[in-house]
Amino acid sequence: MRAAVITGPGQVELRDEPYPTPGSDQVLVELAACGVCTFERRIFAGDKRWCPVSPGHEVSGSVVEVGSGVDALEGSPQVGDAVTVDLLTRCLTCGPCRRGRTALCRYRQGRSLSDGTFSFGGFVETISVDAKSTYPVGNAPMLHAAMGEPIACSVHSLRRAGFTPGARVAVIGGGFMGRLHMALVRVEGAAAIGVVDISEERRREAAEAGADWVAQPGEACRVGGLQDVVFVTAMGGLDLAVEMVAPGGSVVLYSAFDPEATVGVAADQAHRDEVSIVGVFNQEPEDWRRAAAVIRSGVIADDLDRLVTARFPLSRVQEALTLVTSRPTYRVFVEYGPG
Ligand SMILES: [Zn+2]
Ligand SMILES: [Zn+2]
Repeated sequence: MRAAVITGPGQVELRDEPYPTPGSDQVLVELAACGVCTFERRIFAGDKRWCPVSPGHEVSGSVVEVGSGVDALEGSPQVGDAVTVDLLTRCLTCGPCRRGRTALCRYRQGRSLSDGTFSFGGFVETISVDAKSTYPVGNAPMLHAAMGEPIACSVHSLRRAGFTPGARVAVIGGGFMGRLHMALVRVEGAAAIGVVDISEERRREAAEAGADWVAQPGEACRVGGLQDVVFVTAMGGLDLAVEMVAPGGSVVLYSAFDPEATVGVAADQAHRDEVSIVGVFNQEPEDWRRAAAVIRSGVIADDLDRLVTARFPLSRVQEALTLVTSRPTYRVFVEYGPG
C-alpha cells in the first residue's frame, strides 16, 4: 500500500509500505478520504519544521477486517462499516486523561512508517486502529465522514463554551472551522448567528450558507450587538471578541494564536458580568459520538458539501498540498482507491 510523506518544504513523495495487520482489539480500515488541514499546510509551506513526516489526521474509510477480540463485542464495528476515525493517541494514564480530559493527553505516541518516519495515520491507504477509535456513519458520504475530526473539535468547542439553545452567537473567522461552528450552533438552536471576516468573499459565502448577519471586524459590534458566545476561529479578533461578549457570555479561543498574543478583559468586568474566557483544544470520545451522529443524520449535509473546495486522488497529493498553500480554501481532500 502507498503512504505520502512530506520530505521538505514543497516536497511530497509516495512510498510503498507493508500492508498492516490489525491487533486483536483493532480493525483494519481502508481509507476513503483525508482532509488537508492547517497542520499539513504549515508543514508543506515550511512554516512548521517537522520533516520527514506522513501527516493527515481527518479520515474516513471502510472496515475491511476486524481483530480476533473485536467481532464478539456487541455494537463493535463490523466488516463493511463506513467509519470516521479518531487518530489521536489517548494514553488514559497521564494526569489529564485520568481526569477524563483526554483532549489534553500529555503522551504523544503517534505511529510510524516501516522506516521509523513519524506518521499521523491519515496519508496512507490502509490503517490498523483500535476498534474503539472508529465511529460508524451509516450511509453518509465519505467526504462528510472525513470531516469527523474537525466536527468533533467543533462539538468540543460548543461543549466547552457552555453553549445552550437560544444563545446569540458570533463566529470570528469565516473559514472552514468557523463555518462548521456556524452549522452546528444552528442545529443546536442558536437564536442568531453572525460571521465576522475581513474577506468579502467569505462574508458573502457565510451569508449564502445561512448566517443571520455578516460583518467586517470594524462594524461587527454595531451590526451584531452583544453575543452570548463568541467563537474565535481566526488568528486575530481577540479584542473584538471581548468587546462583543454579553454579560454571562463566553469568549472561546478555538484557533491557534501567535505565542505573544494575549486576551485582555478587565478583571472587575469579568467578575461583575461573569464573562468566561475558554480555551479549546482537540476533542474527546463523547465529542466523536456526537460528531458521528451529526454526520450520519445528514442534518448539516448541505453545509458540509459547501465546504469541499477540491478533491485529488493520492497520486496527485502534491497538487492538493500546493493548492492549500497557494490560496484560501475551505477543505481540500485526498481520496484513496484506484488512481
Ligand atoms: Zn484538523
Ligand atoms: Zn494521556
